[in-house]
Amino acid sequence: MYINVIGAGLAGCEAAYQIAKRKINVKLYDMKPKKKSPAHKSNNFAELVCSNSLKAERVCSAAGLLKEEMRFFDSLLLKCADKAKVPAGGALAVDRDIFSKLVTDEINNNEFIEVVNEEVTKIPDDAITIIATGPLTSDKLSEDIANTFGNSLHFFDAAAPIVTLESIDMECAFYESRYGKGDGDDYLNCPMNKEEYEVFYDALINAQRAPLHDFDVMDPKVYEGCMPIEVMAQRGKDTIRFGPMKPVGLTDPRTGHRPWAVLQLRKENVSGTMLNLVGFQTNLKFPEQERVFRLIPALYNAEFIRYGVMHRNTFLNSPEILRNDFSVKNSPNLFFAGQITGVEGYMESASSGIIAGINAANKLNNKPSVSLPETTMMGSLSKYISDSYVKNFQPMGANFGILPELENRPRDKKARGQAYADRSLSDLNTNKSEVLF
Ligand SMILES: Cc1cc2nc3c(=O)[nH]c(=O)nc-3n(C[C@H](O)[C@H](O)[C@H](O)COP(=O)(O)OP(=O)(O)OC[C@H]3O[C@@H](n4cnc5c(N)ncnc54)[C@H](O)[C@@H]3O)c2cc1C
Repeated sequence: MYINVIGAGLAGCEAAYQIAKRKINVKLYDMKPKKKSPAHKSNNFAELVCSNSLKAERVCSAAGLLKEEMRFFDSLLLKCADKAKVPAGGALAVDRDIFSKLVTDEINNNEFIEVVNEEVTKIPDDAITIIATGPLTSDKLSEDIANTFGNSLHFFDAAAPIVTLESIDMECAFYESRYGKGDGDDYLNCPMNKEEYEVFYDALINAQRAPLHDFDVMDPKVYEGCMPIEVMAQRGKDTIRFGPMKPVGLTDPRTGHRPWAVLQLRKENVSGTMLNLVGFQTNLKFPEQERVFRLIPALYNAEFIRYGVMHRNTFLNSPEILRNDFSVKNSPNLFFAGQITGVEGYMESASSGIIAGINAANKLNNKPSVSLPETTMMGSLSKYISDSYVKNFQPMGANFGILPELENRPRDKKARGQAYADRSLSDLNTNKSEVLF
């Protein structure tokens, strides 16, 4: 009896380790070193393809809380990261070569893990399987996944930023659907007058854009449908006023008139705490997104929990396909983990590998699947990727906006973060016997 794990990246290594901890044999496949994605360079596993930072350490931050929860599950990657640490202020940064070597040695020396250096080209059906082949999954396997799941595999991430509802200045925003269609609170409108629009427009077309890798350049057929707002704006001063920022069918209650231009915000989750900037997919550098989009009066103090991005990213439309234990809804022996599920970031990918690994092992042992409390960052991310309310699914990293609201919400940001962390860790400990068995 064994479990297949496909991909020895961040998620795959965590998954294999969790399965092996439960004394179950694992066949861990990776196409390295024979074949590498355009971003992977090293022969070792768990390669950090870009930054060497695993983000903040302090538990009162979203990234820090995620790591603390992963430590609760004896995360292999964090044990190795602690040994490969380099000074980085409040962040956990590593020497990437030492880090990957430590993970690779742990995997190679594990008696329950057999490493197979082969590209997998079809979804295996010989055993319970976890697919963790990442945002740059090889073409043949991507094709098989796309054929299996219809149109539910995306190859490119062209996403608009997401902001928190609580950070919107409601004095400068109003709820209304265009021409009164739909529910009245479907859209939160952020109006601008002519002067405000012109300042915003100039900043938008002159803002700095992020450089693209060759493999990030989008197919022109796809590009037209999800063009970055800054590129569309360059076609003419009024192009976006007749496009995503059109004010027709809307009346600003402050003036009783139609605004000059409007940014519409749409709910990203069922509780409406996260809002998507509709039609604002962008390739601007992250600090530029904050600078430029905050020129819209209602967004003056906006808190960005996800920036817009344009890059190659293979990911499933998970809310249609996955359960919150990372198994496939109509194929319970198949699991996905890592960035391909729509979690975003090194540690988010690794944490999903932990959950998928535990649940694949439970499946083999005929034990019930484990769902983590929604008050935890890992539980909330699992809920988000499997939340059928989410229609325009975009990948998501750890942030406090996806956690349920606190009962007594401290006003101070640090105290609030600490309260989220205390609640999460207490709920994990209360459910310890169920989640750790
Ligand atoms: C260019 C780029 C830069 C990024 N930078 C950052 C960053 O700075 N910070 C951050 O937090 N996140 C970053 N990410 C996002 C994400 O966190 C990482 O991609 C992360 O490595 C995802 O982990 P994973 O385990 O899902 O996939 P990966 O770590 O990519 O692992 C997938 C593994 O699967 C193997 N594989 C692929 N196809 C097959 C196949 N068919 N058969 C067998 N093996 C296969 C690959 O060789 C690889 O080892 C970046 C992503 C990209 C593409």
